[in-house]
Amino acid sequence: MNETNIPVPKPGVMDIAMYVPGKSKVPDGVKLHKLSSNESPIGPSQQAVAAIADATSKMEDYPDGSSTQLRNAVAEAHGLNPDHIICGNGSDEILGLLANTYLANGDEAIFTEHGFLVYKIATLTAGAKPVVVREEDCKANVDAILEAVTPKTKLVFLANPNNPTGTYLPIEEIRRLHAGLPSTVVLVIDAAYAEYVRRNDYESGIEMVSASSNVIMTRTFSKIYGLAALRIGWAYGPRHMIDALNRVRGPFNVNAAAIAAGAAAMRDKSHLEQSIVHNDEWLVKVTEGLEALGLDVTPSVGNFVLVHFPDVEGKRAPDADDYLTKRGFVLRLVGGYGFPNSLRMTIGTAEANLGTLAALKEFLA
Ligand SMILES: *Cc1c(COP(=O)(O)O)cnc(C)c1O
Repeated sequence: MNETNIPVPKPGVMDIAMYVPGKSKVPDGVKLHKLSSNESPIGPSQQAVAAIADATSKMEDYPDGSSTQLRNAVAEAHGLNPDHIICGNGSDEILGLLANTYLANGDEAIFTEHGFLVYKIATLTAGAKPVVVREEDCKANVDAILEAVTPKTKLVFLANPNNPTGTYLPIEEIRRLHAGLPSTVVLVIDAAYAEYVRRNDYESGIEMVSASSNVIMTRTFSKIYGLAALRIGWAYGPRHMIDALNRVRGPFNVNAAAIAAGAAAMRDKSHLEQSIVHNDEWLVKVTEGLEALGLDVTPSVGNFVLVHFPDVEGKRAPDADDYLTKRGFVLRLVGGYGFPNSLRMTIGTAEANLGTLAALKEFLA
């Protein structure tokens, strides 16, 4: 065998840098506080847990291929038409579907320099060209995105708020972006953290989707709903886009346990409220605590913060990561996002947050 007689992946595939999930390994005997993947410290709704138990009684049957129960629950909670909703195996699947549906060889997809890494993977997988545009102060820049548009542009991915920066664009800026794009370009608003945002000038994008024919919003059950393990995402878009995505997706892309649990979780308003209250309190406390240690923190509206370390021997982000991991506090190195000297910290339980702050104080001393 040699390199010339083996199957060769299509162009783009071998350019993909594999996604590296957040770590969860600490030394034996040390209690793990996982703050590396923006998971919920509250856990899922108990009603979602009960719904899964129910769903396991019929495991020989295929799930409902159109996730009707889940789409109806989402539609009801958000006041939407269920025919304009598609569900996915995580919103990551839907991001991939969008790329595979709207991008062909030679097409371009635009996203920003510190944007979510899945956009690049989805673009390359579809055989298209990633066009990465600069940000300003860790924030997407509408003018930079519009300047990058060419006749080959088919898709723009924008996380609002963005991961790992935690910054957001006000709805006015999103409107300006939409107004400047050709109507043939798909604008994907990834609102994975929408439920956490407490800003009067923020909107998740629902109204924009309703009022246009080229905007789609993606959402997830992995963050505030505490159901990352089940892989549930959904998108709200114009009928013609949902129709196209439905042709491309797997016929049974969301499993029965996920459909049942997601629907139950969506109806449990008090669980949602509890998660919001916890995050509101600890986002402020963690940000202030880190700043009190002399660290720079990018102002976040999500359930995580991006912390920047001093450019000093022994005090850089990888050093802090080693120090914290030995003590059970696992944050996220974000070199792959263009931040070699920063860590992303998920807002965790009170114990995890206070423990991380205490350990960082020792580390910096
Ligand atoms: C976590 C996250 C998602 C959610 O992905 P799932 O596949 O639904 O778990 C999507 N977009 C961004 C920006 C995220 O940070």
